[in-house]
Amino acid sequence: MSTAYPITEHSYDALVVGAGGAGLRAAVGMVEAGLKVACVTKVYPTRSHTVAAQGGINAALGNMNEDDWRFHMYDTVKGSDWLGDQDAIEYMTRNAPASVIELEHYGVPFSRTKEGKIYQRAFGGQSVGFGKSQAYRTCAAADRTGHVILHTLYQQALKNKVQFFSEFFALDLLMDDEGACRGIIAMDIADGSIHRFRSQLTCLATGGYGRVYFSATSAHTCTGDGNAMVLRAGLPLQDMEFVQFHPSGIYGAGCLITEGARGEGGYLTNSEGERFMERYAPSAKDLASRDVVSRAMTIEINEGRGVGEHKDHIHLHLEHLDPKILHERLPGISETAKVFAGVDVTKQPIPVVPTCHYNMGGIPTNWRTEVVTRKGDDPDVPVPGLMAVGEAACTSVHGANRLGGNSLIDLVVFGRAAAHRAAELVTPGASHRPLPKDNADPALDRLDRVRNAAGSARVGDVRLAMQRTMQRHAAVFREGPILDEGCVKIVEVATQLADLRVDDRSKVWNSDVVEALELQNLMMQAVATMESARFRTESRGAHAREDYPERDDENWMKHTIIWVDERHRSTISDRPVHLNTLSNEVETVKPAKRVY
Ligand code: FAD
Repeated sequence: MSTAYPITEHSYDALVVGAGGAGLRAAVGMVEAGLKVACVTKVYPTRSHTVAAQGGINAALGNMNEDDWRFHMYDTVKGSDWLGDQDAIEYMTRNAPASVIELEHYGVPFSRTKEGKIYQRAFGGQSVGFGKSQAYRTCAAADRTGHVILHTLYQQALKNKVQFFSEFFALDLLMDDEGACRGIIAMDIADGSIHRFRSQLTCLATGGYGRVYFSATSAHTCTGDGNAMVLRAGLPLQDMEFVQFHPSGIYGAGCLITEGARGEGGYLTNSEGERFMERYAPSAKDLASRDVVSRAMTIEINEGRGVGEHKDHIHLHLEHLDPKILHERLPGISETAKVFAGVDVTKQPIPVVPTCHYNMGGIPTNWRTEVVTRKGDDPDVPVPGLMAVGEAACTSVHGANRLGGNSLIDLVVFGRAAAHRAAELVTPGASHRPLPKDNADPALDRLDRVRNAAGSARVGDVRLAMQRTMQRHAAVFREGPILDEGCVKIVEVATQLADLRVDDRSKVWNSDVVEALELQNLMMQAVATMESARFRTESRGAHAREDYPERDDENWMKHTIIWVDERHRSTISDRPVHLNTLSNEVETVKPAKRVY
């Protein structure tokens, strides 16, 4: 069947799939290390989702008050509810200041203090002195931090002559008979032509899969394609039950109001005008960790103290802040609130509701960014030729709950780490090992079936059914019977994929085909998320089970590993959490109850 497609061949030392912050940082570093690098991306690089990041990037620079990377490490382990791998967290927090300074030298225009230092704001879950007082650790460029980082890294990538293949859709990994990754097969979205990229090393930087839910702050393109490619290659995903719901998505629209709004002094109230966070987190209040605030809001709504006609959301107040501060520090969100909620933030509160925002789970890697899989008794065997970085990866620095500002730093620290590791593993210009003859057939057969799908189910309808099922059965609060039902329902929805209808077969601008392929990818991750949530019978971080309300370290201080095949059948196992640190400069953060 696949002979119907002529294939254009490409050959590189290293290949990066994805041009968000993680992919661009990795690609720039790989070129700097002397490798010939291609970057394949389904959207134009500066449209990658990183552009939407608002609040900032964490690093213990200590520009506003005392700070230390060990405090950052402590906060991240605590924020992760002790599910994060401490070797990786040490690596990230220790390398964070140098990575931010490097961004500054690349040209990122950070906001400044009066003394000309990088401005840092308060974010949730950050402390000085191991939990003693609020830290100011989030380096910001007003509320457009992701935008400026992405544009700066793209300029660096162009300067360094990274070879871009923009608006190319990666279909699948090319795996050899020994289980090594040898590149990818991709489609040029504009004309439907097929391209095979051979590489010594492939780095997946394909972002999260937020669009599996009905209400999400992420872009429509966040469909976790790399995660699904990994599943189709017979490799597992990790910790897929951990999905972060951000406290302040605009009610009805999903767009994000950054946590920086609360960092600058904003606060939440219920229908009684009460600042209810004082009850749930007496010390940190509105700046408690995201999972804590989202759960508190959901309880307020469920107990009848939500605001609005349907009592189904909460108010975020900024109107008491100096308009000058709003203008300088939060110009983007003032505009977003006006456009999407019709609210003038200097006069009225913003209606907000917890909204799917970040995927802690993804492709399991070690701290060097090599993808790992379980083989027999060994849970950490690197997959030759395959790396993952950014939101697609589960390194795992965020564990059960990510702290605000810790994703952007994850992107650049581990993007850089991937480049360092690539330099060690790849010999520039080395010849490629032969591939099995039929290496691209499964992907091209699948593409063919999608292109010619003549059933009765519309892509948009099936996607909506999936999103509603996820929102209903696996959102902020979860419970055994609801998850059991959800596991059955999601597979029922998935069966509709066999009856899809795709109308546009012209091969010119393949957007219908791409949407159908993205839906296939989302569905595998929906199943992985639902099944993993059912599997974990405890509450930890973002995974709150009403039937198992306590954290259970004895039985569950471990990562969930799940395989899902194309017929949506899953197999679950686990992997120990790395409690060891990398150096003797810091000790393991011992498990404790998480209070803010
Ligand atoms: P992305 O930026 O999502 O890029 C993914 C790339 O993969 C894209 O280039 C895309 O084209 C490519 N791709 C995907 N699939 C394919 C395919 N099949 N073929 C080819 N290419 C493909 N974090 C913070 O730390 N601080 C913040 O202030 C912050 N604010 C945020 C605000 C919003 C509204 C949201 C939703 C998130 C925010 N986050 C923040 C989280 C953070 O922005 C993301 O986690 C991060 O930007 C993800 O970056 P990435 O490089 O992993 O992926």
